[in-house]
Amino acid sequence: MNIPFVQAHSSNYQKGRSATIQWIVVHYTANDGDTDAGNASYFSRTPNLSASAHYFVDEDSVTQSVRDTDTAWHCGASTYYNGCRNANSIGIEMCSDIFGGKYIITEQTVARTVDLVRMLMQKYGIPVSRVCRHYDVTHKECPEPWVRNPQLWEDFKKRLTKKEDEEVVEKKTVLVDGKEYTCEVIEKDGQNFVKMRSLPQAGYTVVFDAARQLPAMTAPQCRPFVPEADENVQNAIKTLQQVCGLEDQTIEYLRKYKYGDDLVKKLAKGIAAS
Ligand SMILES: [Zn+2]
Repeated sequence: MNIPFVQAHSSNYQKGRSATIQWIVVHYTANDGDTDAGNASYFSRTPNLSASAHYFVDEDSVTQSVRDTDTAWHCGASTYYNGCRNANSIGIEMCSDIFGGKYIITEQTVARTVDLVRMLMQKYGIPVSRVCRHYDVTHKECPEPWVRNPQLWEDFKKRLTKKEDEEVVEKKTVLVDGKEYTCEVIEKDGQNFVKMRSLPQAGYTVVFDAARQLPAMTAPQCRPFVPEADENVQNAIKTLQQVCGLEDQTIEYLRKYKYGDDLVKKLAKGIAAS
């Protein structure tokens, strides 16, 4: 990994360390679309910020701002919740974006941070148990997306210890017809592979078709015809068939549509009113 060094202004960090490096702390910048180079430049030219980090990471690059051998001010507080301090840690800031009114860390930035943290873990012999969020040190909401959704933090930690081509199953939330559901996903080379077994949670029917000897999936909006229509729907069907002469197959086709029963009732109501 090629990491340029743009030294922070001398007033923003402490030269040297009073303890050995034992922890790695992950932060986010709470900005919208910032870059590693932009942050490093800002901390370099702006004195007396009372803050600093060793590394800034964005989607396509990493910039170092404070030498590992110097102390950055990234997790100081009056109350601590673990053994991590500025003196014994390396601080990494992930650049962030705001999407739909919420902070996000893009997958590319997370992947780059995984690479950087893995490199530092190996360099300083730091186990994954001493890689933490700023939140774990001081309870500050940082990185906010990983405090709001701790699963993202768990997924990140898994990626720190997995072997190079080992596949890790992650839980991801996706929208199906506007409804949220959690599925198990393996990500490989930037592509998501959804576990077939997690599809029924989204309303899919997954069976083994014995006749054709193949797994068969049925999407929610094409769900198999359910004959038990309630009384209102039965009456509506009768009306449609009598007044409009609709065939059974046509009714079945209508009812296979996700909102078919509602449609059948609305049509019958419209006919009755006219
Ligand atoms: Zn932080």
